[in-house]
This record gives sequence, C-alpha cells and structure tokens, in this order.
Amino acid sequence: MNPLYRDMPTTIFEAMSMRARETGAINLGQGFPDGPINAAVIAAACDAMHQRSNQYPPMIGLPELRDAVAGWYARHQALDLAADEVVVTSGATEAIAAALLALIVPGDEVLLFQPLYDAYLPLVQRAGGIARIVDLDRTSWRIDPAGLTAAIGPRTRLIVFNDPMNPLGTCAHPDDQALLAQACVEHDLIAICDEVWEALVYDGAEHRSLMQQPGMRERTVKIGSAGKIFGLTGWKLGWMCATPPIARVLAKAHQFLTFTSPPHLQWAVAEGLNSQDAWIATARAEHQASRDFFCAGLHAIGLATIPSAATYFVTVDLAASQVPMDDVAFCEAIIGSAGVAAIPISAFYAENAPSHLVRFCFAKHRATLQAALDGLARAL
Ligand code: PMP
Ligand code: GLN
Repeated sequence: MNPLYRDMPTTIFEAMSMRARETGAINLGQGFPDGPINAAVIAAACDAMHQRSNQYPPMIGLPELRDAVAGWYARHQALDLAADEVVVTSGATEAIAAALLALIVPGDEVLLFQPLYDAYLPLVQRAGGIARIVDLDRTSWRIDPAGLTAAIGPRTRLIVFNDPMNPLGTCAHPDDQALLAQACVEHDLIAICDEVWEALVYDGAEHRSLMQQPGMRERTVKIGSAGKIFGLTGWKLGWMCATPPIARVLAKAHQFLTFTSPPHLQWAVAEGLNSQDAWIATARAEHQASRDFFCAGLHAIGLATIPSAATYFVTVDLAASQVPMDDVAFCEAIIGSAGVAAIPISAFYAENAPSHLVRFCFAKHRATLQAALDGLARAL
C-alpha cells in the first residue's frame, strides 16, 4: 500500500457531508448549490442520450464541446483558443491530476499557495513533485512578493494557482497576476491555473485569466468545470486548455486516467456554453443575492466575514467575531448545537494553519439559509 493514501484522512468535504447526513444538519459545508441549476442543459443531455451515440467519444473530447469551450472563452475572456488546445476531462479534478502527472518530473519543485484546494498537495506528492508552499498574506489574501521570490529555486518547474480562490472567494489582484506572470517568464515555469469559479464572480467584476498576462499564453494550463458554470456539480465534466505542445502531453496523461467522459454530458455542455449566456448571468446574480442575504444574516448575529467576491462561499472570522473557539471545535459544535455543517479553513492549509476561519456555502434556498441563521443565532 502506498503510505500517502494509507495514512491520508478522508477529504473534509466528504467527511462534513457525511456528518451532516448522519445528524440531519443543514449542509453548508461541501460546495454544491440548491439552485439555480440549468434545466436546458439537463434536457439536452436527456435528448442526447436517446438520440445520439452512447459510445466512446474521441479521447480529447467531442469537437462540438472543444469548439464551444473555445468560443465561450473568446466571448467572455477575450482568449483566442483553438479547439485543439482544449482537452475535455472528467471534472476539473481529473484535469488537475492529469496536468500534474503530465508536467511533473519526480524531484521537480511545485509552488502552491495557501490556503490551497485540498486536492493539490496529495496530487503533487503522488506525481513525485516537491511542494513549496507560499502563504498568502493573512489580511489582504494577496501574494507577498518576497515570499514568492524566496520559494522559487533552480528546481522550480510549476506553479498551481487557484483564481477565483476556494475557500475564501477572493479574486486575484491584477498586480499579483502580473507578478506571477513575471516570475513564470523569468524562471521558465508553467502555471496550472484552476479557474473553475470563473463564471461566479460578483459585483459586476469580470474574471481575467492568468493566461491573458504577457508571456502566459504559451505557459498556462487553464482549467475549467461545467459543474460550476451550470450548477451541476455531480456531472464532473471539465477541461484543460493549453498551447498545442503542452495540450498534447496533457492528453497523454488523460488517456490513461479516464480516456474520455460521457458523450451526452459533453453534447449538453456544448449546447449550454453556446446558448446559455443569459442564464449564466442570471445565476450569477442569484448567487450574489444569496451571498448578500446570508452575510447580512451572519452580521446581524455578530459573526464577522471576509468579503466574498466570487464562488459559493463566505468565510466567517471567529476571532473578529469574538468567538473563543478554534475552527475545528466551532464546526464540531455547530453541527450539534445549530444543526449546521461548515468547513474549517485549516483543512485548506498544509502547514501553519490559522484556526479562526470557517467557510460556509451560501448557494442555498433562502429558507435553508434562514434556518441555518436561526440555528446559529440560537447556538451562539
Ligand atoms: N478546483 C476547485 C478550486 C474547486 O473548488 C473544485 C470543486 N469545487 C474543483 C477543482 C473540482 O471541480 P470538479 O467537480 O469539476 O472536479
Ligand atoms: N470543491 C467543492 C468544495 O469546495 C467540493 C468538491 C468535493 O467534494 N470533492 O466544497
């Protein structure tokens, strides 16, 4: 048995969802929405199952979907991707795994930024990479230039960057993107940029990809997920985009992970990307309204939050709220006392974790959010 897996705990998302199921708590832990979910895309998948092929699609994805991804990024992010620069995967998780397996030579150093999405570190380690962790500043959640410089050495080959960022829901500052781009160009690094939350950016802001920075077009692997764009997280359909010499290598890793993904989902997502821009804008506005509703409720019961600019998540600052508990104890306590499941932010740290931050998912019906707020108000 590989000790990495033997000694590894179950992911916090599964662990907290299991606790919520066992206790009947409202699950504001794992990030999945009650709604809005896109009915047109679901109908297209049903139609495709009945009317189109149910056999293996091409290994790198249906041409219709690769065209649709390229078209969507051209319209929304002014990117000029060709269809052969898109490799379809079974969720962004597979894309992250494939990219790390394909690009890491054992012994390579890989920069990760804390807080970090929980899949990154084990996948880097499994691929034989050596993680160098860069802490984001714990007030501004920005990159400390000195910390970045200190982490880059002669064996650094890759950076993994998540923008918008799960768990905190922050969007990268343009100066930080420029800083990363300069570092990548100067040290000849490839950036794996996990942008699964790109369609859920609020307050009129627009996502800008690291790939748009000078020098980054040919050294970025941009990862996306249909689950987030259409509110269908169980679909596990994603993609990775990169210039052809990199995309060809990514495809080699993908071919022996999953080889391909269900064709009806690919057709449906292609149709959705081509026709559902108005729905995507409405969904974004609804999530923003849920965020505002939930944050106002948290503030009213004395819980302070870190501003959430994107994603399904808002983070409560226990220290600023004068709650004398650490994040793990707080999450454990509120499952019982408030009937609410949440995620301790320390789960997103590989080392030196802060213990005063807790993530809540606000992508729920108003009544569910209100019930959670009522439970928290009673418990506090
Ligand atoms: N990366 C980040 C930052 C995520 O938040 C998630 C899921 N919430 C994923 C990757 C995984 O996406 P998928 O479900 O498409 O595998
Ligand atoms: N990314 C989702 C979250 O942050 C969870 C995905 C998963 O459960 N693997 O909640």
